[in-house]
Amino acid sequence: MTNTLNRRAFLKSSSAMVAGGVAAGTLGFSSSAQSAEDDGTYDVIVVGSGFAGVTAARNASQAGLKVLHLEASSRLGGRCFTSHFAGHDIDLGGTWIGWGQPHVWAEKMRYQIPITESAAFSASQYVWYPEPGHRRGGSPDDYWKVMYEANEAYFAPAREALPRPYSPLFVPDDKGLDRLTAKEAIEQLDVSAEQKVLLNGFAAINGHSPTDTSSYLDQLRWIALAGFNQFFMWDNLGRFRFEGGTKSLLTKMHEDSKAEFKTGQPVKSVEQTDDHVQVTTVRNETYVGRKLILAVPLNVISTIEYTPAISNTKMEISRQRHTGSGVKLYARIKGKHPLMFGHGTQDMPLTFVWTEYDDEDSQILVGFGASPELLDTTDAVAVQEAVNQYLPDAEVIDFVSYDWNVDPYSLGTWCMYRPGWLTESFEELQQAEGNIHFATADIASGWRGFIDGAIESGALAAEQVAELLKEGASA
Ligand SMILES: Cc1cc2nc3c(=O)[nH]c(=O)nc-3n(C[C@H](O)[C@H](O)[C@H](O)COP(=O)(O)OP(=O)(O)OC[C@H]3O[C@@H](n4cnc5c(N)ncnc54)[C@H](O)[C@@H]3O)c2cc1C
Repeated sequence: MTNTLNRRAFLKSSSAMVAGGVAAGTLGFSSSAQSAEDDGTYDVIVVGSGFAGVTAARNASQAGLKVLHLEASSRLGGRCFTSHFAGHDIDLGGTWIGWGQPHVWAEKMRYQIPITESAAFSASQYVWYPEPGHRRGGSPDDYWKVMYEANEAYFAPAREALPRPYSPLFVPDDKGLDRLTAKEAIEQLDVSAEQKVLLNGFAAINGHSPTDTSSYLDQLRWIALAGFNQFFMWDNLGRFRFEGGTKSLLTKMHEDSKAEFKTGQPVKSVEQTDDHVQVTTVRNETYVGRKLILAVPLNVISTIEYTPAISNTKMEISRQRHTGSGVKLYARIKGKHPLMFGHGTQDMPLTFVWTEYDDEDSQILVGFGASPELLDTTDAVAVQEAVNQYLPDAEVIDFVSYDWNVDPYSLGTWCMYRPGWLTESFEELQQAEGNIHFATADIASGWRGFIDGAIESGALAAEQVAELLKEGASA
């Protein structure tokens, strides 16, 4: 029945809406908390179960709306993926949070999820590459003597450019910082050649790609969100993680949702009228709601078909993809080594490496690289060599990584914008398209590209949709 539902039938009669709930139930994926009743039309359909989708589904359903929550894959979390490695709940994607991130911190407090610290926060040994091929080691103080000043110079324009980080367009970008790449901005700084090399490494990991791809203005956002303080910024970027991984918070939030949840439901197309939206999955199941919250990554938006078409800007930007496309890898090394933090050049296979877990007879390092072209994370020899650039004597026992770039439901890692996107397209990216509302970390106002931004965006979409449905009911 659902396969033959054509556009005319859909537009003509809301009785066609019955189709969705019926077909879906036959798949046996449902972990239903509440089933569609009446004509099968939902108030809201939420697509995607990363932090944005889980927040939207929970909030909308708790507001009394009848919510269907669809997920393409077989698990919750999207770009947060807690896995098990060497006796630890490690996160292959999003991991660290901090109390400068208001949305995720509020959820952490609400559900009382304990946090723990990365071992490297107490690192005694720093390793850095002030020029390619030139390894230097020293104390934290030795490293920060070089890096503190470099970072201050790099972030100097932030206070003037982003005085209200949650309104990134509050001040007009008269200096054209959004048009500059991070690389161009570093080139213009009055700092030493060594500091420039280190800044390029740092900015490459922020954008998770080479520094000639990301907007300087978008990079400045991180320090602005952290109260213009580089140590507090690090506290929010790489110090605290959830005990038990991101799954521990995500599961609590999801358990609080009253939405009907179905996994294994990749949505391929979306069709809307003035007052309804129909989504169709790759297996041609259809579901109908009055509103849709599309909580898929920015890079995935353009892989879905829309009738009528949605804005060109959204489709174009999605096709170009945000810059996040590098690698993240965990490597277990034999024996005990001093807790370390390593900072290389952006052309090295791994640009940041640090001790994440300090176990009795082994340690787990976490590493980040700017491009999968620089490191094949399935190649044991390449991983061993990459680690040895920081710890020449370390022997890698085992390693694990996840290729977010080829996962069709992420198509990239964390979001940083390309030059011009923020000033020219950001408002448009946040805009609803008729009954389709968008929710993802990738379009958040504050900590865009972070777990915090996903929760911000999901909560806002649920609020907007609930308000509109309330207005509609009282009209
Ligand atoms: C390697 C890595 C490291 C990171 N580190 C951090 C960190 O330390 N701290 C931090 O705060 N953030 C970090 N991030 C970023 C953070 O993980 C993301 O910003 C955030 O999780 C995104 O949430 P989201 O809900 O917007 O999107 P996602 O988590 O990507 O969720 C989107 C969901 O939509 C589903 N979906 C996609 N297409 C379809 C479809 N067609 N039909 C149905 N469902 C679909 C996906 O399967 C997925 O479940 C990291 C990300 C990566 C990849």
